[in-house]
Amino acid sequence: MAVPKRKTSPSKRNMRRSHDALRVEAFQECPNCGELYRPHNLCTACGHYNGREVLPVEA
Ligand SMILES: [Zn+2]
Repeated sequence: MAVPKRKTSPSKRNMRRSHDALRVEAFQECPNCGELYRPHNLCTACGHYNGREVLPVEA
């Protein structure tokens, strides 16, 4: 069975983990209803995108 020759040093381990951090997701306010929505996505509260209603809201 293939086995690592040496223990991974703390430095190498930390270099590997330098890309593992979670990012805060981007959000912006809807110009129509003020709800927060993801950029380039439909507003889930009012169904608007780019200043017009794309999806009618089910009430
Ligand atoms: Zn909205």
